[in-house]
Amino acid sequence: MDIDIIVLWVIILGLMIGSFLNVCIHRIPKGESIISPPSKCPNCDHKLSAWENMPLLSFLLLKGKCRECHENISWRYPIVEGLTAWLFLMTYYHEGLNIQFVLSCVFIAVIIVITLIDLDTFHIPNGLLLVGLIPGLIMLSFDNRSLYIIGFLILGFLYLFIRLGGQMVFRKEAMGLGDVKYASVIGLFLGWKIGLMATFIAFFGAAILSIVLLLFGKYSFGQKIPFGPFMSLGAFIGIFWGPQLIEGYLNFFMK
Ligand SMILES: [Zn+2]
Repeated sequence: MDIDIIVLWVIILGLMIGSFLNVCIHRIPKGESIISPPSKCPNCDHKLSAWENMPLLSFLLLKGKCRECHENISWRYPIVEGLTAWLFLMTYYHEGLNIQFVLSCVFIAVIIVITLIDLDTFHIPNGLLLVGLIPGLIMLSFDNRSLYIIGFLILGFLYLFIRLGGQMVFRKEAMGLGDVKYASVIGLFLGWKIGLMATFIAFFGAAILSIVLLLFGKYSFGQKIPFGPFMSLGAFIGIFWGPQLIEGYLNFFMK
């Protein structure tokens, strides 16, 4: 069997970063340090030894239960680890091993944390948004600048406009300020064209989910749904398939 050794390293890197992202998702909303103390069982505070703290593998070895108190370990931990590894691998196939790979992986890692924290708390911490700006800002120094700065501005203003419009129509907050800032972060990284496409996917995805929830009687009007995860979905699709989707769209409508 001939397996690219770099592929193996990218997967291991993704799993390890994914494990760290789980710590961030768990601790940032509580205002706790993401560096210390070491990981422990959220149920019985049992400190995890090295073999209990390996991404993905430990979950399988422990059969999804804490060794001390036998409480089920959330499925979310291995899912976040696997997802991070998979997205890093996609980035490697997409970019190769270069500075763009590093920047994209940092951006993807921030998006994963933002998505899950928004799902948990309906809030996107400002500190994470600032970290999310860093890859885009570094890209400005070696790429066509205007495309990305325009993306930052257009997406920010578009979401601000939607927020203000929603407030006037519904007389309550329809879109959080965190979403407006998150839109700018995505716009800076993707540029305005792919950024707008990501926005379209976000609204389309949210509309579809709302219809499905309504059909199955799981949604009542006025119920809050965090919008950040849909923006993340749009950003992921934009990162990997943005140029092809825009080309396909133009070919379809402009010919
Ligand atoms: Zn335990």
